Amino acid sequence: MAKEMRKIAIYGKGGIGKSTTTQNTVAGLVEYGKKVMIVGCDPKADSTRLMLGGLAQKSVLDTMREEGEDVELDDVLKPGYGGVMCVESGGPEPGVGCAGRGIITAINLLESLGAYEEQHDLDYAFYDVLGDVVCGGFAMPMREGKAKEIYIVVSGEMMAMYAANNISKGIVKFAESGGIRLGGLICNSRAVDREQDLISNFAKELGTQMIYFVPRDNMVQKAEIHRQTVIEFAPDAAQAEHYRNLSKAIDGNKMQVIPKPMPIERLEELLMDYGLFD
Ligand code: ADP
Ligand code: MG
Repeated sequence: MAKEMRKIAIYGKGGIGKSTTTQNTVAGLVEYGKKVMIVGCDPKADSTRLMLGGLAQKSVLDTMREEGEDVELDDVLKPGYGGVMCVESGGPEPGVGCAGRGIITAINLLESLGAYEEQHDLDYAFYDVLGDVVCGGFAMPMREGKAKEIYIVVSGEMMAMYAANNISKGIVKFAESGGIRLGGLICNSRAVDREQDLISNFAKELGTQMIYFVPRDNMVQKAEIHRQTVIEFAPDAAQAEHYRNLSKAIDGNKMQVIPKPMPIERLEELLMDYGLFD
């Protein structure tokens, strides 16, 4: 019998660390034998860079622009580190068209080409989604039930928390119809004072959990320059162990909720309690 594939989307403000965290988490899952696909849903198309070690991945949209409808799965789905299947949806040419639509087109194409079918025997599909743009396209993986389980990457910085709260509103909207649930917040530290405590409380108020606190560590940049995850580049580093722990937390996570987004006043009050407006 086919195993049940978990379909996970990683959302969060631009630059918060979604792609880094996703790829390192996936590298952790690979270490204990999981089969994973990463679908980059950001027009930047850098969601799989660390998996592919510098091999430039042509995005689905670029490939379609060049080859029309004749795209083959091998053109857009490349195996990377540990056999992880890598896809980038891509985006419109700068300044032209809706970036969100690219995601819709790309996922539909992947489905019609059979990327999700049984022969790939996947345990996980991860969607790495730009989440601070309030646009239907970016909600697509949720809206169409492509992703069922959401994790939000956040830090103790105000704008990251605003974005997380907004993304929670999006989850509520699709929770009933699509069975979408929030699995937790991943705190990717920006070394804000009392950040761990702040994000734990923020998570609690949202009705969820802080599933892991990832410290800020220069090892991430060192690995990145070599186009590798920390797990590949420095498997013995403390940061590699943090990412392994995050992988395990997600793999074993049983807490899937419909979040309770906060009124903006309450969010500001919380930030005030932590002295962030002093
Ligand atoms: P996003 O995908 O959300 O736009 P990225 O994953 O590209 O964000 O991360 C932005 C930058 O932050 C990257 O260049 C990465 O090196 C850095 N970064 C992310 N997480 C950490 C961390 N835990 N420690 C240090 N640097 C980090
Ligand atoms: Mg990214």
